[in-house]
Amino acid sequence: MNMTAKQFARHFKALRSKRRKAVQEGKANGHGRARLTSAQRGSVLSKTGGRCHICGGKIEGQWQADHVLAHSAGGGHAEENFLPAHAVCNNYRWHYSAEEFQLILKLGVMVRTMVEKGIGPGPDIAEAFVRHERRRTGRTKSARAPSV
Ligand SMILES: [Zn+2]
Repeated sequence: MNMTAKQFARHFKALRSKRRKAVQEGKANGHGRARLTSAQRGSVLSKTGGRCHICGGKIEGQWQADHVLAHSAGGGHAEENFLPAHAVCNNYRWHYSAEEFQLILKLGVMVRTMVEKGIGPGPDIAEAFVRHERRRTGRTKSARAPSV
């Protein structure tokens, strides 16, 4: 990557604007959530042997049929355009372009190492992340360990 830190931040902003525009256009074209029959859902789930196509983890309980090509990017609602995903994975993955998703993964892996080793901004990021997750899950006073 041949960018300065400021250019990198601007690039992320540009990717986000592009994604939001695509999502809005998808909505404007009347693309909604698909309705799959339980037989179709069973067929989608069997494509990966019952595993989430994003993280590879076993799917138990609730899951979502994820568009391989998001409808905002022109993907259809046919059964072939779906793969099974955990709700958490799907909700974080939703609408990111391949480029943006890969950058987020790379950034996440780098930050993860900093958090684990306690180097650079790792400890501050860990603190901010724990606070953010507590707020998000509404367990501000809970002393329970994060379930992740
Ligand atoms: Zn998953």
